Amino acid sequence: MTTKKNYGFTTTILHNDRRKGIEHGSLHKPVHTSVAFGYSDARQLASVFQGKEPGFRYGRQGNPTVSALEDKVNKMEDGVATLCFATGMGAIGAVVQSLLRAGDHVVSSAFLFGNTNSLWQTVTGQGIAVSFVDATEVANVAAAITPATRIVFVETIANPRTQIADLAKIGALCKERGILYIVDNTMTTPYLFRPKAVGAGLVVNALTKSIGGHGNALGGSLTDTGVFDWTQYPNIFDNYKKAAPAQWGIAQIRAKALRDFGASLGPEAAHHIAVGAETMALRMDRTCSNALALATMLAADLRVAAVHYPGLASHPQHALATDLFRSYGSLFSFELKEGIDCFDFLNRLNLAIPASNLGDTRTLVIPVAHTIFYEMGAERRASMGIAESLIRVSVGIEDEADLLEDFRSALDA
Ligand SMILES: *Cc1c(COP(=O)(O)O)cnc(C)c1O
Repeated sequence: MTTKKNYGFTTTILHNDRRKGIEHGSLHKPVHTSVAFGYSDARQLASVFQGKEPGFRYGRQGNPTVSALEDKVNKMEDGVATLCFATGMGAIGAVVQSLLRAGDHVVSSAFLFGNTNSLWQTVTGQGIAVSFVDATEVANVAAAITPATRIVFVETIANPRTQIADLAKIGALCKERGILYIVDNTMTTPYLFRPKAVGAGLVVNALTKSIGGHGNALGGSLTDTGVFDWTQYPNIFDNYKKAAPAQWGIAQIRAKALRDFGASLGPEAAHHIAVGAETMALRMDRTCSNALALATMLAADLRVAAVHYPGLASHPQHALATDLFRSYGSLFSFELKEGIDCFDFLNRLNLAIPASNLGDTRTLVIPVAHTIFYEMGAERRASMGIAESLIRVSVGIEDEADLLEDFRSALDA
């Protein structure tokens, strides 16, 4: 056998399905809609159920089309195993369902996607304690850790204010304390950054966003990077300790979250996401350069009070971002000067669309405090650095000149 070539990011994704051998020479993994998988030998069915040989049992626990996507995401993140879920929140929820018990403690970055923030509030009512810390400083994370801490959770670039967690130092701290480090990589994607490099044990990706990339399918994933030693994790049931320790986490998440709670990704959505993933690197190059151009233009405009984008030298973690990420991402947020109504401004845009999604091919804008961060209230928003006039921009792949012109003329009017 020849040694496998070390192909680049896009080459690997493009040819991954084909290398596994697909019927009729099909270049895409087909959309397998079957819920059940039949075996001519009933003994084989039993042995698949008992985990003695690989195979599919029932659509909720695994599907060939979904599995092909899992393999691609796993390659992107350089993981040991990846599981897909119906949504990004399904993936984060799976962590709670399968790995946390009453009495456990979580240290989470205070700068979070709104629904993740809401999820941590929900579990607080279920006997799990959550401490929110400013994760841009590792000392704050260290100070919050207690003997009951099971998980430290951060986002790479926080949505929407773009604070960047002190990713490598937090990884070193978690390693030293034997705590599971979970990084939500949605904003950077595995193309810009691999959390495994900073010691993350589990990586979350909302596949809905830049990986799928076209706003036409929901999905999420959890990747076990192989960095975490599961023998140190107290909540693993004996059932899942039969395989090698590297498999314990994923085996328990598959059974206790995917099987028992059922947030399974459908095969059609998996196909959409897999097709989108083929061009992710190309789209990211374009959206990141568009974002830098637009953020730079707005930062120089006197009618703009503030621009939050890691690509700007004024960003507090600009040096860290330069150090860790291939580029600075497709998302930024900004505040208009007092006296300019953010709704009037948004209504003057012709290309950028007021809508709640990110990582789409089209540029989307949203007044954060009035929509996605409305329910949490002004006090929590203030603690997350979210101004009432904050506008989040998810930059698309439009031609740069058209995008700059759209924002410039909306400011001029
Ligand atoms: C969107 C998003 C999620 C959730 O993904 P869904 O597919 O919408 O459930 C999680 N984390 C981050 C950072 C996100 O942007």
